[in-house]
Amino acid sequence: MINADPQELRKFEAIAHRWWDTHSDFKPLHAINPLRLNYIDERAALRGKHVLDVGCGGGILSESMVRRGANVLGIDLGEAPLSVAKLHALDTQIDIHYRCISVEDLAQEMPEQFDVVTCMEMLEHVPDPSSVVRACANLVKPNGHVFFSSINRNPKAFLMAIVGAEYVMNMLPRGTHEYAKFIKPSELEFAARQAQLTIRDVSGLTYNPIFQNYRVGKDIDVNYMMHFTKEA
Ligand code: SAH
Repeated sequence: MINADPQELRKFEAIAHRWWDTHSDFKPLHAINPLRLNYIDERAALRGKHVLDVGCGGGILSESMVRRGANVLGIDLGEAPLSVAKLHALDTQIDIHYRCISVEDLAQEMPEQFDVVTCMEMLEHVPDPSSVVRACANLVKPNGHVFFSSINRNPKAFLMAIVGAEYVMNMLPRGTHEYAKFIKPSELEFAARQAQLTIRDVSGLTYNPIFQNYRVGKDIDVNYMMHFTKEA
């Protein structure tokens, strides 16, 4: 059985053509990209590294990591997002690889082949996130780096990520996120620890609606990123 929710995949299929439009539903991903890219690069020194981007979508993060000198494979189970990613890479003449394969299947095929595995804004769309965490842990080399980002589960996250972003500010299409699928950092850390990953950092990504910008900081109440390394 494949660890994917067809309804979740359809949500992204439907809007994939707007992936690289920085004023579209994907505006927030474009806005946070430089911040998360720096976070990853500062911790894992991307230049020359073999990187796997899980749930890469249209390739916003994947392409930016190539620009930092990484060798990137992006995987996703959405056909339309992957087509957009491939076309965009042709357009920008960037050397990158994309495949439509589940992270669990790739873990069977390429165990311990990557220096860095990134899996951003994807776990909260998957039926069994801990299976994705385990697969990412299998794919990374010993001493390699794994990065996740997701949305915390508490009343403030509900207010900001669903009511605020989808209903008040109209930043995301309604129904993009389901509260019950949000993941507490402690839950993600537990799943990672079970998979032999050691936590190195957790940082928040906060949105300032007045200045309409994001910053990385200590507030992990809503959006957050986590950095792990694999025990040798
Ligand atoms: N990681 C990218 C895209 C996030 S959008 C970024 O942060 O820029 C979420 C992506 O997860 C979509 O492209 C969607 O197709 C993908 N996705 C959802 N469920 C998935 C699954 N079970 N396996 C692989 N990809 C999945």
